Amino acid sequence: MQASSTSSDPSIESDSPIVRLESVDKYFGALHVLQNIDLEVMPGEVVVVIGASGSGKSTLIRCINGLEEFQQGKIEVDGKALLPKGKSGKSLKAIRTEVGMVFQQFNLFPHLSVRDNVTLAPIKVRGASRQQATENAERLLERVGIANQADKYPTQLSGGQQQRVALARALAMEPRLMLFDEPTSALDPEMIGEVLDAMRELAKDGMTMIVVTHEMGFAREVADRVIYIHEGRIVEQGPPEKVFDAPENERTQSFLARVL
Ligand code: ADP
Ligand code: MG
Repeated sequence: MQASSTSSDPSIESDSPIVRLESVDKYFGALHVLQNIDLEVMPGEVVVVIGASGSGKSTLIRCINGLEEFQQGKIEVDGKALLPKGKSGKSLKAIRTEVGMVFQQFNLFPHLSVRDNVTLAPIKVRGASRQQATENAERLLERVGIANQADKYPTQLSGGQQQRVALARALAMEPRLMLFDEPTSALDPEMIGEVLDAMRELAKDGMTMIVVTHEMGFAREVADRVIYIHEGRIVEQGPPEKVFDAPENERTQSFLARVL
């Protein structure tokens, strides 16, 4: 959902994109995984990325928060530039603290309680006091609907609960942008809804989000824009009703015919 331009936070410039990719090329050896990618994401926008397995969706997401290097082009996140071949210096660190990420595998710290999973980075990276971080963690766990699980350890939780802890943990760093890479793909079907609900709430609150997912119902309902990637190229994008109901590209058409 697009943020209104009347935001009371003067640091939010709704006219300039939070994410900008310019002619980005990425190779794994001879494999040209991302091909000339241009992409701008505006504050408050929810972009859903769809495409077949191996089309480059995860690589795209991982380039945006500097987990993967790329060979050509430019990526800017909140005005900080990532440059090809790892020449990004300080902006890489800044971007990692401003961008939250939720993966398919929850990647929680198994030896830490739910509460400590959420407070660790704010205390270690942001220098928050334990009390401040704990209060914030309780609030975030409440927000994702698991306030009563704070003293448990990750293995004592269901997959859906673990993924909501992962979401709370990412939000604890007060990110300007949230990236999701198939956040519900590892979940039992009955737990997918609770994670999508938490993401839907986050979108409603105006978070800028890039979401790789196969949940087409979620995409249709929550996305401002759907991007279809085929073999490392953005071949079609637009509002969900356009991409899903009237796709122009024949590759999009055949992909959707397989998944819808
Ligand atoms: P998707 O997320 O759309 O399934 P990926 O971005 O994971 O696709 O992968 C895109 C392509 O890059 C695939 O062909 C994949 O095998 C390849 N690939 C991904 N990661 C690596 C890697 N670390 N080394 C070599 N090839 C990789
Ligand atoms: Mg992937």
